[in-house]
Amino acid sequence: MSDVRVPQCALTIAGSDSGGGAGIQADLKTFAALGVHGLSAIAALTAQNTRGVQAVEVPAASFVRAQIDACFDDFDIAAVKIGMLANTTIIDTVADALLAHRATNVVLDPVMIATSGARLLAADAVDTLIRRLLPLACVVTPNVPELETLTGMPIRTAEALQAAAQKLLSLGAAAVMAKGAHLEEGSLVTDRLFMAGEHFEFVHPRLAVEAHGTGCTFASAIAAQLAKGATLPRACANASEFVSEALKQGYSVGRGQLHLLRHI
Ligand code: PLP
Repeated sequence: MSDVRVPQCALTIAGSDSGGGAGIQADLKTFAALGVHGLSAIAALTAQNTRGVQAVEVPAASFVRAQIDACFDDFDIAAVKIGMLANTTIIDTVADALLAHRATNVVLDPVMIATSGARLLAADAVDTLIRRLLPLACVVTPNVPELETLTGMPIRTAEALQAAAQKLLSLGAAAVMAKGAHLEEGSLVTDRLFMAGEHFEFVHPRLAVEAHGTGCTFASAIAAQLAKGATLPRACANASEFVSEALKQGYSVGRGQLHLLRHI
């Protein structure tokens, strides 16, 4: 036993997907695939499959806090991924807990609406997300619609995306990893990382599949790489590659439209 290497621990605070494609389930598969021990605090429950979200249940805030406390009280947590938080009460609870435990390497996926169209964050919770969680994160990982909602800026071009990312930096984000899949940029998809005075691009071929769980997998892959000691640009580059590979090897289960990722 003694020479078995002890893995780093990463915590996901997010929503459960009963279909196993996104949320907590995708995060734990990503952590395992990248050699990190995964912990979870379930902040929302969804009854969901490859056809869509049928129901959402939000646990008591005190129970969300109890899960986070249980994890921090016993494990050395090297990174935290934040996903679906459902409403302002849960956002406030998670922000208070992250502050109390001095969490580091916090990756914020500002989950709002699922690919299937279901709302995963109350419309009135966006300002709270910006005010409470943006300052605690080392990186925020919006897709184009999320970046538009966070900044109020319409995004049709790479220049508009850069301007919106700069606005998010000015609102208190330490770094913005903007996913490019929703932009019309031909046969390629470019994910762009913006940090103060620096800008990195990660380019992949566009795949013609509608897949489920890409955003969750991307953010948890960044958290896993940060837990293992990578710099933020390296973590983002690896995560971008990881999602691209998982998508390439994705598969179709269930009877709906959405493909799931293969986390290997
Ligand atoms: N369900 C849960 C619990 C999620 O956290 C998310 C995204 O973060 C989704 C569904 C949506 O995933 P996708 O947009 O990839 O379908």
